[in-house]
Order: sequence, then structure tokens, then C-alpha cells
Amino acid sequence: MRKKIVAGNWKMNNDLSLTEGLITDLKLQSKTSDAQVMVAPTFTNLWPAFQSLRETDIEVVAQNMHFAENGAYTGEISASMLKSVGVKTVILGHSERRAYFNETDELLAKKVDAALNNEMTVIFCFGEELGDRKSGNHEHVVESQIKNALFHLEASAFSNIILAYEPVWAIGTGETASPEQAQDMHAFIRTTLANKYGSEVADSVSILYGGSVKPNNAKEIFSKPDVDGGLIGGASLKAEDFFAIVNAF
Ligand code: 13P
Repeated sequence: MRKKIVAGNWKMNNDLSLTEGLITDLKLQSKTSDAQVMVAPTFTNLWPAFQSLRETDIEVVAQNMHFAENGAYTGEISASMLKSVGVKTVILGHSERRAYFNETDELLAKKVDAALNNEMTVIFCFGEELGDRKSGNHEHVVESQIKNALFHLEASAFSNIILAYEPVWAIGTGETASPEQAQDMHAFIRTTLANKYGSEVADSVSILYGGSVKPNNAKEIFSKPDVDGGLIGGASLKAEDFFAIVNAF
């Protein structure tokens, strides 16, 4: 059985006091689904979030990291630093990192290796832009993003990889992929994995959907057989909305 996961990506939102407020609200929510819940605050709020959530089953994860262990990389954060504040999982390859910070597949392959070498779990994000979808090139784009960043890995590495399909045109736009579009792409991703690593690996990897998931559309998206959860942006900033999505499973 694949893990069901709902992760909130808080992006560059919330200072320390707003983060503490959101965490207080999260702790008041009750979980009725069996989905694993994760939240990703900014770097400065990881440690207070970890301390506050350590007695709960909400995991605190990071939004990014550098591939180097340490050294002269001003402004960067390493895997061992994340681990030292209780973080065991990191989001890599988000489309905002790719678009605004020039993160390439090649760089992401190094980051994935660094995270796995540090025994961390990776939530690896990818997804096509609107133009790719319109030109019918979306499967090709997604396939190459996955191949370029992940297909140098051994099959065993996939027990520490979570995939997150996030079509760029659906992020923060209010326009979600339809449940059918999400299912079609997730099935394609699983086939791509199966062709390289076999169906046992492909069937064991959780594939999350991200892009304008809200309380009113989560249930239908999560009902699709190859959708194992969601990576939630805007709607994860309100505890009630986020838990409505968690409990949509
Ligand atoms: P929205 O849910 O705000 O569209 O963001 C999705 C996302 O980018 C999660 O990583």
C-alpha cells in the first residue's frame, strides 16, 4: 500500500509569530483520514515549528536545500543543517525554484543525491508549463524532468522519494488540473517509472498532485487511483482549509 500524504508548502509566507499562530490552529484540528501530514515553513521557522509539532504526527519539512555538505556557499542551507533541526524530508525542484532561481535538472540531480546521501526523504516536484500542455508536449516534458533528475538512482532509492506533479499553469492560479488530467499524468508517471525500475517500484512510490487544491476539489482529485495525495500552497495557510483537504481522503 502506498502512503497517502498531504503536505502544505507555506512558501515565503508567515514570519515567526504568524507561523506560531498557524501551528496553534493546526493543533486544534482533528484528523479523520489516514493521510500523513507534512508542513513546510521557511528556513527561519523550521526549528520553532519542529519543537512545537514534535509531539504530534505532523512532520516538519524543508522547502529547499543546497547540495554541498558545508563551506563557502553564502546564504545556503545544507542537509546536515536541516537534520540538526529535526527535518528529515525536503521539497526539491519546485517550479518556483526552477523559474526564479534557475534550478536545472542537472542541479536537482545533485540536490537529490545530497538529500539521499544524508538519509533524507525527497519530495521531488516537476510539471509542465501552459505552453507545453497546449502543444500536447506535457508528457514529454514531465518524462524528461523525471529522467534527468532521478534516473541515475538505484531502484532502492525510491523508498525515499515522493513525487509531486505540479502543472505550472495550475499553481496559484485557481485553475486546477481536472481530476482526469491529474489521473492521466499520474498513470503516465507510474508507467515511466515501471519501464525503468519495474512495477514493484512504480507501484510503491507516492505521487502527489499540486496546483490549486482546495477544500472543494480535493475529494474528487484524491479519489483517482494514481493520486496519492497533494502538495498544497495557498490553502495550507489556513488550518481549517488545510485539514479539510487532509480529511478529504
Ligand atoms: P497552490 O495550491 O497555491 O496552487 O500552490 C501549489 C504549490 O505550488 C504547492 O507546492
